[in-house]
Amino acid sequence: MGVTARFFCDSCGREVPRNKVRCPGCGRFFSSVKCPKCGFEGEAVLFQKGCPSCGYLRAGRKAPGYGNLESGGPSRIVLKILTILFSLIVLVLLIILLRVF
Ligand SMILES: [Zn+2]
Ligand SMILES: [Zn+2]
Repeated sequence: MGVTARFFCDSCGREVPRNKVRCPGCGRFFSSVKCPKCGFEGEAVLFQKGCPSCGYLRAGRKAPGYGNLESGGPSRIVLKILTILFSLIVLVLLIILLRVF
């Protein structure tokens, strides 16, 4: 079974077929695809097998965040935990910085 990237509209969050340049839901025009994970931006052709930069398979259109709304597979939980851990680290760093200054 092959794995192909899925794309989501940043305006309405609807899944958009890879070959479409306009969202079937809201009609928004897409000029490029942006990976919600690493921020890599490029043409949809580059994302056929996922993000060429980090390998993320569900890219968002122009907007980071929406690509994360719909995801499946076992890596979803790992990603969620990593995201929570990362935000916790940032929070702790912020508290430390605020105490120093
Ligand atoms: Zn849309
Ligand atoms: Zn990426």
